[in-house]
Amino acid sequence: MNSTMIQFFHWYTDGNSQLYDQIENSADYLNDLGIDYVWFPPATKGNGGGYSVGYDPYDLFDLGEFDQKGTIPTKYGSKDQYLNAIKTLKEKNIKTIVDIVLNHKAGGDEKEKFEAIKVDENNRKKPISEVFDIESYTKFTFPGRQKKYSDFEWNFTCFSGVDFAEGQEKGIYRIINDFGKWDQMVSDEKGNYDFLMYNDIEHRNPAVREELNYWANWYQELIDFDGVRLDAVKHISFDFYKEWLQLLRANSGKNIFAVGEYWEPGQLPLLQKYIDYTEGCMSLFDSSLQHNFHTASKEGNTYDLRQIFNETLTLADPLHSVSLVDNHDTQPLQALEAPVEKWFKPIAYALILLRKDGFPCVFYPDLFGAHYVDKDKQGNDQEIFLDKVEKIEELLKARKHYAFGEQKDYFEDANCLGWVRAGNEEHAGCAVVLSNKDAYQKAMEMGKNYAGKIFYDYLGWFEDKVTIDENGWGNFPVSAGNVSVWVAED
Ligand code: CA
Repeated sequence: MNSTMIQFFHWYTDGNSQLYDQIENSADYLNDLGIDYVWFPPATKGNGGGYSVGYDPYDLFDLGEFDQKGTIPTKYGSKDQYLNAIKTLKEKNIKTIVDIVLNHKAGGDEKEKFEAIKVDENNRKKPISEVFDIESYTKFTFPGRQKKYSDFEWNFTCFSGVDFAEGQEKGIYRIINDFGKWDQMVSDEKGNYDFLMYNDIEHRNPAVREELNYWANWYQELIDFDGVRLDAVKHISFDFYKEWLQLLRANSGKNIFAVGEYWEPGQLPLLQKYIDYTEGCMSLFDSSLQHNFHTASKEGNTYDLRQIFNETLTLADPLHSVSLVDNHDTQPLQALEAPVEKWFKPIAYALILLRKDGFPCVFYPDLFGAHYVDKDKQGNDQEIFLDKVEKIEELLKARKHYAFGEQKDYFEDANCLGWVRAGNEEHAGCAVVLSNKDAYQKAMEMGKNYAGKIFYDYLGWFEDKVTIDENGWGNFPVSAGNVSVWVAED
């Protein structure tokens, strides 16, 4: 079976505790489309309470159960709704991927006073102050939870840096501790990119590691998840997740799937270095492929489609690649905004869904649509309408039923790519052809076992059929700026 993942949320997902119920109610629909992994948003209580997207974690043990940060449920629902959704998915053989945010914590309960040194934003190795006492919200006692599940209290020794110091300008303050410097990172971006935001977790503190390992087991035993999506791994020492995942897999006895967010478009060697250091314990999102899609969609027919997999993880290391078209960071008005234009999305989805390489991830708005308002970079309100991608359901079903067997590429034209999948014992194959310019016809070889078969366009663009000749070849058309998927009639 071809696995397919969905990111079942986006940055502007509606609040009011509706999401978990929507996921539960979508289980049959996802099954029909062959989507067998659901990536949930971070389920832990964030500093933003009921409005938090989830990337500002406050209490890892509060999954919408305790009255903290002004609310019991999270933006997405209560703990019970969460557990019910996962249970229903499991009954329908859909696996759960949980979103794990362990680089930082936000919204400490009390201030503490400790020594710190201010560093240059653009070179975090460079101090721009003397060591001095600051006060910051680094004490986490979780009064609303009253030590249920864990009595661990976080204090300033659990963090390596903060962005808030009482009475001081916002900046980056490295906490003075026994380690004497930032934790080691794979990349030397900004001198050292350990610090991202809020209170940066000090993973070298053994008590912190122990608590995060304990939490992982608690979480796994509670909901029995099948996979983890690991946030901001480029800001965390590679040693940490290697150990954390190994323990989680050993304790659960499950080969838990893992995908890390190492967002670095066009920097394939850094991703490969990370995979090497972590001994292949996790896949990574193919940020370069996403960026190539963005570029191709902007450049239109001047883009050479033969370059589409250049510098991508999907090409270089397909077994560690999670391929995607857009996500909650690349969508319009977000920080890493690099959306793929509407006309190109069916082409991009064909490229991730119908080829053999990569584990494809569908972005929620591409299947369900989205509508939201936010400020643009100039500070003006913008209203965004994201439409369901044309033919996305057919493309997903084509993956489910026909994207099997050997793949043969026809990548000789700059503006028209084609490939065939030969099929296997259980599944017939397909022929895919796409264009970023004019209408084309591409001659491709399905194989002699298809000789005489009549193929039709599974996406329904063409009325005409294609007959496979005696040598196993067919001439497969595509319309301008579009994709067609050809399969044999029964
Ligand atoms: Ca960090």
